[in-house]
Amino acid sequence: MPRPIQATIHSAALRHNLNRVRLAAPDAQVWAVTKANAYGHGIERVFDGLRAADGFALLDLSEAQRVRALGWRGPILLLEGAFEARDLELCSRLNLWHTVHCDEQIDMLALHKTHEPHRIFLKMNSGMNRLGFAPQRFRSAWTRLNALPQVDEISLMTHFSDADGPTGIAEQMARFAEATCDLPGERSLSNSAATLRHAQDAAVKADWIRPGIAVYGSSPDFPAHSATDWELRPAMSLNAQVIAVQSLQAGDSVGYGSVFVADRAMRMGVVACGYADGYPRVCPTGTPVLVNGQRGRTVGRVSMDMLTVDLSPFPDAGVGSTVTLWGQSAQGAVLDIDEVAQAAGTVGYELMCALAQRVPVVLAD
Ligand SMILES: *Cc1c(COP(=O)(O)O)cnc(C)c1O
Repeated sequence: MPRPIQATIHSAALRHNLNRVRLAAPDAQVWAVTKANAYGHGIERVFDGLRAADGFALLDLSEAQRVRALGWRGPILLLEGAFEARDLELCSRLNLWHTVHCDEQIDMLALHKTHEPHRIFLKMNSGMNRLGFAPQRFRSAWTRLNALPQVDEISLMTHFSDADGPTGIAEQMARFAEATCDLPGERSLSNSAATLRHAQDAAVKADWIRPGIAVYGSSPDFPAHSATDWELRPAMSLNAQVIAVQSLQAGDSVGYGSVFVADRAMRMGVVACGYADGYPRVCPTGTPVLVNGQRGRTVGRVSMDMLTVDLSPFPDAGVGSTVTLWGQSAQGAVLDIDEVAQAAGTVGYELMCALAQRVPVVLAD
């Protein structure tokens, strides 16, 4: 028997979440962001749940090839564009739309031989300071691109640095609006946080939104809002079983470093999940879990293949009991990945992306 640990990808949750973001921006087209192997869920596994999207946005050419191999004929957008001239050949061959964020990418396009002109998303750096043309250089980049025979329609794009927090998006929106006011083309501005938190702002919803994390059912602005607050459902669950039970006396410790010491008699469950499965080692004693669907807590240090949970409140639990590390339990209870991420000092994104290769994954509706 394989180790009793399993991740489940829920197609119905993906469909629900996609609908949920559409409700926030009913007139926008939706790029389902599936970079990083669909945030760790697996491109092939999310495809069915997300096929109602208007397009797939990702970064790796190999991932674009995988989406085409699934039979998707609609739009695919490379969010970072071409990394070298050769990439443009694949863009031509697979009809990939691509971002242009720097002069070097325009140089590559100018030298590219293609029968079909390319659909471009021209990126402005409106304040994030990672990728894109500064507002004062945006128009000249557009003009140069627009003159190339290799270029078809040009859409205008930017990315927010603070859509999830108190700083908000107003300043970046204003810079973008000012520098693009008389340029034609579709606009794409919003990630999940902008789409959900700034849904009242008309400009946010135009013409393409780019939700990632919300589609996977994690809140873009936890703890200000939980996934439940946003009416999102977890698309990934991680469940494992108790493989041993230890009875501790007061003064007994658990695991490496003996960091947890029992102050009274306790029952401890040893669970077949560790940091080599993608569960963060830094999660301290008290990180929430579900034991047979009921809320419990970890104790002691997470090791490579195991972690320990307090079974004292669950007299019926023992070897074979299911422990939900995040997502849905068989009983239907939900533990937000964002709560576990918070205990680890990180965000849900990182946990889902880090699900380890060795964890068997099943697809459910
Ligand atoms: C990853 C990414 C997104 C999606 O962001 P979420 O916070 O997951 O919604 C949108 N746009 C760009 C350019 C990205 O790189």
